[in-house]
Amino acid sequence: MTSPYIALVTGAGSGIGRATTLRFVRAGARVLAVDLNPDGLAETAAFAEDPGAIETFTADVTAEDAPASAIGRAVARFGRLDWLVNNAGIGAAKAAHLTSDAEWDRYVDVNLRQLFRFSREALPHLQAGRGAIVNIASVFGLFGHPGVAPYAATKAAVVGLTRQMAADYGPKGIRVNAVAPGVIETALTRGRIVGDPRFQALNIDPIPFPRLGRPEDVANAVYFLVSEEASYVSGHVLAVDGGWSVT
Ligand code: NAD
Repeated sequence: MTSPYIALVTGAGSGIGRATTLRFVRAGARVLAVDLNPDGLAETAAFAEDPGAIETFTADVTAEDAPASAIGRAVARFGRLDWLVNNAGIGAAKAAHLTSDAEWDRYVDVNLRQLFRFSREALPHLQAGRGAIVNIASVFGLFGHPGVAPYAATKAAVVGLTRQMAADYGPKGIRVNAVAPGVIETALTRGRIVGDPRFQALNIDPIPFPRLGRPEDVANAVYFLVSEEASYVSGHVLAVDGGWSVT
């Protein structure tokens, strides 16, 4: 029997990160669940089928020492690291002319810079044939959409970084992929665009599968990409968007 896979998931205290953590545990993996919010992490752990399979770690992923301390904890607790899911992120609707320098820097820090820093720290631990990284991008990194410029710019950069890392680390046996969610019902969208009839008419009703996505829809795609079923898949950006990005 192969030893269980060891994962680190950022932003695991809510939404897509929580669903991914629970999906991994259901598949027999062990997870270091990282988030700013300790209450969210405790809820994630409470939902797990096997609570012993989750170790929670409270940290701001943008903190200078966060990648080294989180990955150090995963290795100390579980002995190894196989999968990194760079999921923590922020999002809100803004056009470029309404975005301040401070807001721009915050998007770059949370959605892009920390993802690069976690990946860099994780890479030496990932073993050929087992190691996999999945970055959570967005459909807004794939096509233009009004009013999301700083967010979309960071997500397009996540797509670019994913492809470059796949090229660099494929020869070392490490796969790097991304998932680009459409509109998923989580804390990020609830109360902002979810429930807004104008958003629904413009962005949900016309897509081929006209419903909101569920965090589990994204978690299943992330699990596929880290799993052995995807052993010949690298540098791919898998849209989980009800077909939105092809219409
Ligand atoms: P969410 O708000 O439900 O969860 C995000 C989690 O990340 C929260 O628990 C939050 O505490 C954590 N987090 C945020 N900043 C952090 C930081 N600096 N340090 C540590 N933790 C931090 O949102 P979600 O919808 O699950 O989003 C997860 C990812 O999916 C994000 O990268 C987001 O951009 C992406 N995404 C979401 C949607 C959507 O429609 N919900 C669509 C496309 C992409």
